[in-house]
Order: sequence, then C-alpha cells, then structure tokens
Amino acid sequence: MSQAVEVYKFGGASVKDAESLLNVAKIVKQHKASQLIVVVSAMGKTTNALELIFKARLNNNQKLQNKRLEQLKGFHVGIVGQLFENEHKELILNEIEGVFHSLKDSCNTKTGSEDELYDKIVSHGELLSTKIVSATLQLKDIDNKWIDAREVIITDQRNRNASIDFTSTTLKLKDQLNKQVKKVYVLGGFIGSSKQGITTTLGREGSDYSASVIAYCLNAKSVTIWKDVEGVLNADPRYFKDTQKLDQISYENAAELSYYGASVIHPKTIQPLKKLKIPLYVRSFEKLETKGTTISEKESVKNIASFIIKPQQCLMSLKPKDFSFVNEKHLKVLYTHFDDISVRVNLAQHSAIHTYFIFDQKWIDRINKPLLEKSFEINQKTDLNLITICFSDEQSIEKITKDQTIILDQKIGKVTRLLTY
Ligand code: ASP
Repeated sequence: MSQAVEVYKFGGASVKDAESLLNVAKIVKQHKASQLIVVVSAMGKTTNALELIFKARLNNNQKLQNKRLEQLKGFHVGIVGQLFENEHKELILNEIEGVFHSLKDSCNTKTGSEDELYDKIVSHGELLSTKIVSATLQLKDIDNKWIDAREVIITDQRNRNASIDFTSTTLKLKDQLNKQVKKVYVLGGFIGSSKQGITTTLGREGSDYSASVIAYCLNAKSVTIWKDVEGVLNADPRYFKDTQKLDQISYENAAELSYYGASVIHPKTIQPLKKLKIPLYVRSFEKLETKGTTISEKESVKNIASFIIKPQQCLMSLKPKDFSFVNEKHLKVLYTHFDDISVRVNLAQHSAIHTYFIFDQKWIDRINKPLLEKSFEINQKTDLNLITICFSDEQSIEKITKDQTIILDQKIGKVTRLLTY
C-alpha cells in the first residue's frame, strides 16, 4: 500500500455550495494515485453554526437551538436539492436525516463534560459534508467508500484539542483500507474518537492536521491541500495588496510561518510530514492549471520576506510588587498560570523590573487577575497588532511600519517581530 496512496484535503470553502462540490468531483476525477484519501472539512461556515447550536444548548435555549438546527438542515438540504434527483436524492436525504437525528440526540445528552458535548455536537459538520461529498463523487461515477473518521482516527480523551494515538490510528486505517479495496476513500477531517469510543476533535481548523496524520500513518506519497488561494502567499491578501506566491518552502520555514500565525496551514500539519519526508502541495481549487506551493525538504531558491499579522493582541505588563528584579521564580508563576488556563503567549519580553506578555485578547477573561495581583502590579493595553516578518530586511520593515507606531520590537536572526497600533 505504501507510496501508492495520496491524500487530498478540501476545506470548508471548497465544499461550500453545489458548484464547489462539482469542482471537487472534477479534481478527484483527475487524480492519478492508485489510492486516494479525500479528507473533507465541514461545508462553508457549518462549524461556526454548530458552535452556536452548542451555545444555545448550554444556555438551555431550546427555541434558539431548534431554530439554528433547522437553518443548518435547510442549508444542507438546499445543496442536495441542487445536485441530486430522484432515488439518488432520496438516498442522500435519508442519510442527512439520520445525521440530524444523531445531532439532536447529542444536543439532548445530559451526561459528560461540556467539552465532550462540544465535540459530540460540532463533529456532525464533517459527518454531513463527507456524506454529501461521497454521494457527489458517486453521482459523477467516481466509485468511493465513505469512512467514519471516528472509527479510524484514534486520539486521547482531551476533548476539543485531542492528541493522536498514531499506533492505533495506523492499525485502524490500514484495516479499513484492506477491508474493502477502493481507489477513493472519503472521510472527515478534524474529528476522531478516543479508545473508549467518545467523539473528539483536534482543535479548530484541524482538518489539515488530519490529512497529514493520515498521510503519515499510510506512508503516503504526498498530501495536497486545495485552497481558495494560489498557494502559500508571503502575506495575507486581506491586509496586503501586493502579495507574492512562495513556490517552494522548506518544512522548517513552513512550520515557522504557521507558528507565527500564517493561517494558510494548521501549525501541527508539518511535523508528521517532515518525519517521513512526505511533500505537501498547497494548490488552488479554482485555478487548476497553476502549480501552487511545494513544502518539502528543499529550501526555497529565493528568500522572500513574509509578513504575518495577528490583530487584537493584548500586551500585559507585570511588575513585581516586592520591588525585586524580574527573576525565574516570577516567570515560573506566570508561565504556570498561562499553561493552566491554556493561554498561548505569542511574544514575551523581560526587563529589569517589568515582564511583558502578548497574547490574543480574546483570552483576557481567562487570566486570574486577583491571583496575579497578589505578587504583581498589572497594566494592560489591547487592540494591538503583532507583526512578524520572516526573512526581514530594512526595506520590508520600513514598508510595514510607515503608518504604525511600534511599542515593542524583537529581532532574532532573520525574524523581526513588532507590536504596533
Ligand atoms: N471544520 C473544522 C473547522 O472549521 C475543521 C477544519 O475546517 O479544518 O474548524
């Protein structure tokens, strides 16, 4: 089986409506692999909609919950209505009915933790999308097998941010592929289940990671992520007009870009691929004739400055109340707290009597201020931008800072980081 398998991943934007589903079928039809694993995200903004259903359920707002369930069902049924006719339509509508039945059952669950309930509810997005993608491929004469990702992607029990059990996942995946040999398999990204059979998810935007895990477990030849951009760009086109596509990036540089916040690839994706030297292609599902970006062991020929902007950052400055210099004990207390409340520090800097932490401001409420105020004087500033420039030079720094005020900067090797407003 090894080296013959290829993995394609389609994100929410590539399966957002009837037209894009037909485009997915067109892309899959052109594949040349002996076996192709198609990993699919939830359609369009379905995961966000499911998060709202989860919220309504937590607030015991049955009316709102039902209204949102109906809206979501209407969205999926509407797309099916545009694609299928007669008995094909009836078959897939029955499948969708079944998934919504299970979704309603999940909403009614009274046992288990809140995070467990979240995963149970939100995972239905991928169940719906994969059923529809599989049926669309069938409709276009692409014989395929639908796999329930929860039966093959085995994780620990950390709901909402589960870690993969690679040994069990490899066994389960190979077993499924051997059970019924097909050229094309379809399964959902983002979701899995623990050994106890409890549904888990890998964290928002986790489908890229699912694709990479599957490729690793099957020692695949390559992974292709199909996107609405031409490949990995050197900046987010929402903020920059003159972006450039990066043709070739090394695993290290790609991991670095995603670590700093480039949203094109999920941060965990690179590691499994790097281990087995599996190339990752990022390609446009709209412009099939373009080459996209290759991420592999090869270094890029030319180092182009890349810009990553993280808006809505909070700068928290802390000053020890005992007038001592900032020392390791203070930092231990602070980092332990950030770890306990799962807040990722995006940037840190220490001076003699202050220590500064920058993190996404959406996490501010998680900070236990009364606890920290026992030892520190705290000040905070919000609505800041954290700008990272990889392969920075004077020109690139000037370009980005000309209409910004810099309040903190840090330069290590080829990476410059600036906190601005
Ligand atoms: N559907 C999930 C999300 O929207 C996973 C993914 O798309 O990668 O976060």
